[in-house]
Amino acid sequence: MSGGDIWDKDVQYLKNVGPKRVGLLRKMGVSTIGDLLYYFPRDYDDRSRLMPARAYQNGRQATVRGVVTGGEEKRPRKGLTVTRIFIHDGTDRVVAVWYNQPFIRNRIPVGTGLLVTGKIHLFHTELQVQVADYEVEDGGDMINTGRIVPIYPLTEGLSQRLVRSMIKTALDQWGDYMREFIPPDITVRYVLPELRTTLNRVHFPGSREELGMARRRLIFEELLIHQVMVAVVRKICRQKQKKHSYPSVDHLEREFMARLPFTITPGQGQAWEEIKKDMQYPYPMNRLLQGDVGAGKTVVCALAMIRAVSGGFQAALMAPTEILAGQHYINIKEYFNQMGISVALITGGMKKKQRENLLAAIKTGEIQVVVGTHAVIQGDVQFKNLALAVIDEQHRFGVRQRALLRQKGQSPDVLVMTATPIPRTLAMTVYGDLDISSIRGLPPGRKPTETYVCVRSQAGYVYSAIKKEVSRGRQAYIVCPLVEESEKTDLQAAVELKELLAGGALDGCRVDLLHGRMRAEDKEDIMSRFRCGLVDVLVSTTVIEVGVDVPNATVMTVVDAHRFGLAQLHQLRGRVGRGGYSSRCYLISDARGDQAAARLEAMRTISDGFVLSEKDLDLRGPGELFGTRQSGEILYRIADPVRDIRALEVAAREARRLVERDPGLRSSENRALAREINNRYKGFGFLAIG
Ligand code: ADP
Ligand code: MG
Repeated sequence: MSGGDIWDKDVQYLKNVGPKRVGLLRKMGVSTIGDLLYYFPRDYDDRSRLMPARAYQNGRQATVRGVVTGGEEKRPRKGLTVTRIFIHDGTDRVVAVWYNQPFIRNRIPVGTGLLVTGKIHLFHTELQVQVADYEVEDGGDMINTGRIVPIYPLTEGLSQRLVRSMIKTALDQWGDYMREFIPPDITVRYVLPELRTTLNRVHFPGSREELGMARRRLIFEELLIHQVMVAVVRKICRQKQKKHSYPSVDHLEREFMARLPFTITPGQGQAWEEIKKDMQYPYPMNRLLQGDVGAGKTVVCALAMIRAVSGGFQAALMAPTEILAGQHYINIKEYFNQMGISVALITGGMKKKQRENLLAAIKTGEIQVVVGTHAVIQGDVQFKNLALAVIDEQHRFGVRQRALLRQKGQSPDVLVMTATPIPRTLAMTVYGDLDISSIRGLPPGRKPTETYVCVRSQAGYVYSAIKKEVSRGRQAYIVCPLVEESEKTDLQAAVELKELLAGGALDGCRVDLLHGRMRAEDKEDIMSRFRCGLVDVLVSTTVIEVGVDVPNATVMTVVDAHRFGLAQLHQLRGRVGRGGYSSRCYLISDARGDQAAARLEAMRTISDGFVLSEKDLDLRGPGELFGTRQSGEILYRIADPVRDIRALEVAAREARRLVERDPGLRSSENRALAREINNRYKGFGFLAIG
């Protein structure tokens, strides 16, 4: 078989698609035929049952078939055209009604069969269907009614009819390019329908059963592809001997321990032992450090970085936000500079000259430890000898960013950290390429944070509690609700709340505002003012969610808490209870409904992140997912690792077996799979490494 496949055919080659439609498709993230075929319906409407119009209940949606007997057009007032097409459904005359679509009449000649779907009304003696969708029986396939019909997510300028017809065209036109890539033994063992059939049926299923089979295959295929990728990465990491080795005894490590104002906990000690062992090993480390919010992961990664520096190498620490990178920088620098280790911060907002100087110093090795945001993995950042790469808050980054960071050195050791623990089964599959260390428990002396759930009308009490804490010298956070895009912006909501509080309920407190759209310097400025106590109450959008560490802050208030996922709420709550003071978390919500109530109740009663993650797995419907939301790469279009956990386990097992037998995916039955993976994760190029 020669020729390309659906992933390298541009949508512009689709019949009846011109530049304007290509533009609209690109807006939906669709640029190849593959993207279009994998643009799945968000729902289906069963319009397969046909009955005479009078058999339906007045006001209900109906699908009626009849022969066109005539038509008329009316203009009851300016700007309104009503097109009325008469059909006979075998029993009655039915009037199909369109508004402001005068062109419709020419498309529907007298004498042809017509199917219409829409609300049915009986006006006096006239049966009317207000047409939502229709199909003329002209010998072509039915795609808009008279069957189970796909409903797609749309952007402005596209209609369901148009998307349906483009997808139908793609299915017909490029059928030969949809070639099976799942190895035959797997499709046979799990009774998976073959690719071309699957794609046809997921868009235009003949029955619920067909749809179910197609979805099952697509879910499995997506999980399998991801798991094979994970297994290959894992394999590659274990094949390459690393070039560097570290000293076995480390004076700097001892010095660092001695400088710390506390002793590390047994949990931290054990994690460090595991990491140290990996680092001494001839193959690169690829380890995940899990630990609840506030468990003290930073110290552990600092130990690893010191070990790298002792060996004469560089280390990098990448964090998801500028605030967090800035905070790590401040903390680490304090210790490291005293120990003669040079540290630099690199972020996106740097001035050109400053950045150039910094890059030069990183390249010569003058800078030993680099802390930063995504800026660290930019193409122009070159290290002299990066031996250790640490990624904080892993759930914000994906496999791909990890790979990019890894490429900055010659098989460096990689340590990723996350404060959002996930259930063991999920961890094994979602982070399948990683070994896992967990820090259980928190440093001693922490007082547990009391969590209260209250309604908006009680917010006054919450604000007076905040005032009281402030009068004792403590500080507080107030996190603004997430707002839907269609309403006002997060920013507006935050500004309004801040204004409202500063002059009202929090009169006398120094209130300031922090949000994502501020310039980096302004954010850092406000954070440092908060950190040193010049601001009492910080009103913020969720930019503070991750990692922020100000031990003097003792109150966390989340407005409209039901809009946040459990993982996020747990992260937010973790911003307090970090010092020796007792802390409180107020979750304000007026939401009704069992799901919302159950989640807030879980927050109120459970403080351990690991337990909470198990609870989340129980509670959650598809959608929000504890700690596995990954940005920066398309992960799943149709699969949901929580809902589809069984399929995930099977896919993981099959993937491992496959890669074990054929690490480079070179055998004839696996080559198509390798190709598909490279297509789906374009630019990833990981299979080329092996
Ligand atoms: P996280 O695991 O959430 O990243 P951090 O590393 O930010 O947590 O640590 C949280 C706080 O706990 C910091 O202020 C840190 O200095 C402190 N800390 C870390 N380890 C210990 C310890 N063994 N004893 C006491 N305090 C500690
Ligand atoms: Mg942290």
